[in-house]
Amino acid sequence: MTITQRPTTRLLAGALLFAAAAAAHAQPVVNVYSARHYQTDEALYAEFTKETGIKINRIEGKEDELLERIKNEGASSPADVFITVDASRLTMADQAGVFQPAQSKLLEARIPAHLRTPNWIAFSTRARVIVYNKTRVNPEWVQTYEDLANPRLKGQLCVRSGSHPYNLSLGAALLTHDGEAKTEAWAKGVVANFARAPKGGDTDQLKAVAAGECTVAVANSYYVARLMRSKKPEDLRAMESLTVVWPNQKSWGTHVNVSGAGVLKNAPNKANAIRFMEYLASDPAQVYFADGNNEWPAVKSVAVKNPALEQLGPFKADELPLEKWSPNIAAAQQLFDRAGWR
Ligand code: FE
Repeated sequence: MTITQRPTTRLLAGALLFAAAAAAHAQPVVNVYSARHYQTDEALYAEFTKETGIKINRIEGKEDELLERIKNEGASSPADVFITVDASRLTMADQAGVFQPAQSKLLEARIPAHLRTPNWIAFSTRARVIVYNKTRVNPEWVQTYEDLANPRLKGQLCVRSGSHPYNLSLGAALLTHDGEAKTEAWAKGVVANFARAPKGGDTDQLKAVAAGECTVAVANSYYVARLMRSKKPEDLRAMESLTVVWPNQKSWGTHVNVSGAGVLKNAPNKANAIRFMEYLASDPAQVYFADGNNEWPAVKSVAVKNPALEQLGPFKADELPLEKWSPNIAAAQQLFDRAGWR
């Protein structure tokens, strides 16, 4: 394995920092590597320490970089918990063997079974929605993911790269429901309907519909909510021309993805890590966790007051277990490659 100079130094510095912090305070700690960073984080983490006396050392970074770091640190990794977004990324981490089971009766009782896997657990949910320009598209044409592949939408569709986790997850869910042949035909139809080669993130697709570059886009629900709650007049204006669809309400429901976390295989503070995971499933933590990114809590009995999500209204979510569909992401990538979804 080749490790470049800078990351090694950084990793070492990180390990020493944790060790020094632990020794100086002789206080129990949990080391959290998080790819999520939001305004509600301070309250989220402070409350855990107040409740348990366990100090949280946080390392924040980009999703893929954090996973690389955990892999490179190997057996000497100080990381106890890895928090990241999207089932694809959590599955890739799991398939890389970085997690260990976090056995907890409390987590089993709080988090619905379809949002748990043996090695990682979802703490909030987001939906992958269809957004269209109401003045330019017949609403009946864009009610399902399958509709996106219909030739009547030729040259109309904006969607990000086929190798992005959000689309891989959607592809894996479709594959699990519809089978490989049907999903490959779907991916080919989607590619044939592109208004332009995939570029940018989900927000860029929404803005492209507002700008008239395409008439239909696919995006995660929190990007829509973010634009709805934006203070920028141009964002609010962009939203005025857009209509949001909960796809597949008459079939298996809208594809729901997650933010989640797992306890790492080499966690030096395993018991504290499980305690932290249990805390994430508590009522107040669920509100902070979901609210930070306009998501829904994984725990059913917890409600968030989010004006944008309330305005979007209720919907039927696909409750296909994560454990069933998320292992299909590699197959989804191969299928997207064959379809030419770059
Ligand atoms: Fe995102």
